[in-house]
Amino acid sequence: MTDLSKPRLVDEQWGEATKLVQGGTIRSPFGETSEALFLTSGYVYNTAEEAEARFKGEDEGYIYSRFSNPTVSMFEERMKALEGAEAARATGTGMAAVTASLLCQLNAGDHVISSRALFGSCRYVVETLAPRFGIESTLVDGRDLDAWQEAIRPNTKVFFFESPANPTTEVVDIQAVCEIAHSIGARVVIDNVFATPILQKPLQLGADVVVYSATKHIDGQGRCLGGIVLSNEEFVSEFLHDFMRQTGPSISPFNAWVMLKGLETLALRVDRHVRSAELLANFLSNRKEISTVLYPGSEDHPQADICRKQMKAGGNVIAFDLKGDKATVFKFLNALKIIRISNNLGDTKSLVTHPATTTHQRLTPEARAELGISDSLVRVSVGLEDVTDLTVDIDQALTVAQQ
Ligand SMILES: *Cc1c(COP(=O)(O)O)cnc(C)c1O
Repeated sequence: MTDLSKPRLVDEQWGEATKLVQGGTIRSPFGETSEALFLTSGYVYNTAEEAEARFKGEDEGYIYSRFSNPTVSMFEERMKALEGAEAARATGTGMAAVTASLLCQLNAGDHVISSRALFGSCRYVVETLAPRFGIESTLVDGRDLDAWQEAIRPNTKVFFFESPANPTTEVVDIQAVCEIAHSIGARVVIDNVFATPILQKPLQLGADVVVYSATKHIDGQGRCLGGIVLSNEEFVSEFLHDFMRQTGPSISPFNAWVMLKGLETLALRVDRHVRSAELLANFLSNRKEISTVLYPGSEDHPQADICRKQMKAGGNVIAFDLKGDKATVFKFLNALKIIRISNNLGDTKSLVTHPATTTHQRLTPEARAELGISDSLVRVSVGLEDVTDLTVDIDQALTVAQQ
């Protein structure tokens, strides 16, 4: 009889595409081709003895979907195979993953160092929420290795950063920062959303914990929120497991199922995203209406050497500065027909954002200036449409914006 409590093991020899399609599949006695959606909150036990054994941890079956569910397990197993991680816990959103990965291991009196170029809510967790519970935090320029070193205190426990960071695609040297952190016994948590699990493998570069907003490329089709924390067995059993089980930032089995199906096409989608983004970045850098183009896959990215060292390609997010003021930028955004205004990214649909007035609106003008987020900065998440149509769209909108 099929052991329904155990996802099918992944063969380490499999290539990435095979892992993405087959990894972690549990097949029920019905023999379904597609992964089953176990939309259930709880589980029944055949006997009182079985229930007792389950709660004692002597029987490995499921207990309650706040902390374990077969569909969620399949998503976790597939992500583990992709990332090369020993253990993982899926969460309801990317922010639940970030918050859980930090709060599960930090105590009052501890200190966390973070790069200052962060997704707005990540910055809130580190800068505002953590200190409310007695966790000290210091924000540094993530590109400056000396700044990380100098921010170290006797109670520093965690280093946290995104690379590339939102929205300016600023890059942190992952290996170098991991070495600094490990020299004092601190753990490194990396938010790898912009790079995607296909293009950058932080665990192989020395990170201890990787987090994703699965809402972005993993679903990648604008349907569901989700997240995941990946690390080693020790981190999950010592810190994350109990935190997740008792505080409940769990993912719905339905959303986990959508993510699981998203993973099947992730490598294909990321490949096309990257090819289009490379072409578009090149197109943008040849336009006289645009002063600077920031794309981690371009030779003229300020940290091109680090990008080349740690990323397979530059991803699908491009930031650029339009010559002119906020009014010019708004005219440009409003004139776009295919590329729509939205703060999401990693979607099949191309999306454009004005960070200064949306995602980074809450920062002070000084904090924005420090991050290079001017009123003329535009961020594009390149989708899967025909890239020719995207260039035509941008071309006509640039013309309108100059009028
Ligand atoms: C979107 C995003 C998050 C938050 O993810 P949600 O799924 O929206 O909660 C965290 N970090 C980065 C870099 C993101 O882009």
